[in-house]
Amino acid sequence: MTKKGDMLYAWTNDADIQKKAELGGAVTTLWKYALESKTVDAVLAVTKGVDLYDAKPVVITDPKDLVKTAGSLHCGTLLMPKLIKKYLGGTHHTKIGVTVKGCDAMAFYELAKRKQLDLDRIIMIGVNCGGSVSPVLARKMITDKFGVDPNTVHKEEIDKGQFIIEYEGGHKGISMDELEEAGYGRRANCRRCKMKVPRQADLACGNWGVIGPRAGKATFVEVCSEKGANLLDGAVKKGILATEPANPKGLEIRGKVEGAMLKLGEKWRKKDFEGLGAGKDRLKKIMSETSRCMKCYQCIEQCPICYCVDCTTKNPVYVPPGELPVSFMFHLIRYAHIADSCVNCGQCEEVCPSEIPNALFMHAQQVELEKMFGHIPGVSMELPLMAFVEEKQERARLANTGSDMIYENVFNPVVKK
Ligand code: FAD
Ligand code: SF4
Ligand code: SF4
Ligand code: SF4
Repeated sequence: MTKKGDMLYAWTNDADIQKKAELGGAVTTLWKYALESKTVDAVLAVTKGVDLYDAKPVVITDPKDLVKTAGSLHCGTLLMPKLIKKYLGGTHHTKIGVTVKGCDAMAFYELAKRKQLDLDRIIMIGVNCGGSVSPVLARKMITDKFGVDPNTVHKEEIDKGQFIIEYEGGHKGISMDELEEAGYGRRANCRRCKMKVPRQADLACGNWGVIGPRAGKATFVEVCSEKGANLLDGAVKKGILATEPANPKGLEIRGKVEGAMLKLGEKWRKKDFEGLGAGKDRLKKIMSETSRCMKCYQCIEQCPICYCVDCTTKNPVYVPPGELPVSFMFHLIRYAHIADSCVNCGQCEEVCPSEIPNALFMHAQQVELEKMFGHIPGVSMELPLMAFVEEKQERARLANTGSDMIYENVFNPVVKK
């Protein structure tokens, strides 16, 4: 019997899945079992869109169709939780299985905290994530740095710190460090990301730590919940998945790689946040950059945490309609609403037609709040401090104490007069 905390190598016994899978095909096989056993009604996963650089979300209900979702797309910059909320009517009538990266898992938790989704009706299979590459930049990088026509590439992967492509006539890899120094490589938010192994999911799967004869042929699976353990046991019992305990040396290597990735994330945070300046300089920079905003609302549409039906930015009292440049209040409202729960998924930056580094601004503020109040979004179901604030009481406290602190907390005690 598998239990929470187990570390395994897993591989599929299904020849079609094996052919298409990124590694051992464990993720796709587990979904096959989940659908066949009716553990879930549907699976939300990812498949290739118009080309290799386009990842398309797909809802699967027939296990036979799952094979088309096998394999990893590193240039896909999708985020899953809001799709469930927006297009699948939440989780009220359906039990859904979903493949998640770290940022997806974090956003699921933040939406669940706000009662927008029910995690009991969701099974998450997490994939470790070293980062993803923006589709537009990927094409440019392959042309400029690899000297290859991006239309001739039929496979891309990120392995051992390299971005590797296979194309008509050969294959080539360039180190991520070199690409990133030259302004290519992973998305800026991914460089700052420290959610490399999504342990909030029911299972966390990846390639780090698979060594020896199984290298490249098995998926490393960390069991993160009882739900995950049951799914795994069911698939093994059915004979569609095989497992063995992870090699202890592989386990050690995986830990080291994760640690190195976390250090790298910290290094990028320092660089990016210092580049923003501090205090008034930072504010000026943000105001200057956001003055390019044309209020297309895409940052709001795509942000997993923005879900209000009546968005305050649409209230003419706060943001006068039909004015360019857009009032800075538009951005202030978003900062105020999201800064305690931003999961640095990068969507608001990815889709901005004015190329405003929205995720950087929001992430920088979230990290400041994290330092002040100790709340890290997306890692647990712990509520942010703001969630405990009663407006009337707070207003009375402000009036009574004359304090200019927005609210009182253990890190920031207000001395009563
Ligand atoms: P498969 O059976 O091939 O199934 C893959 C699953 O991933 C499918 O459900 C598919 O729909 C889903 N998927 C594919 N692309 C995406 C996407 N862009 N977003 C969300 N879901 C997607 N593992 C590591 O150990 N280290 C890493 O640095 C690492 N980086 C990764 C970066 C990205 C962007 C992705 C998507 C995966 C990464 N992985 C990493 C995980 C690894 O590539 C495999 O997905 C994992 O080992 C499972 O292998 P498998 O053969 O069992 O998966
Ligand atoms: Fe992966 Fe983190 Fe980037 Fe999300 S933000 S795609 S988890 S590296
Ligand atoms: Fe403004 Fe960019 Fe947001 Fe559109 S996506 S509203 S241009 S910040
Ligand atoms: Fe993601 Fe941007 Fe929303 Fe933060 S503000 S959660 S980076 S879309």
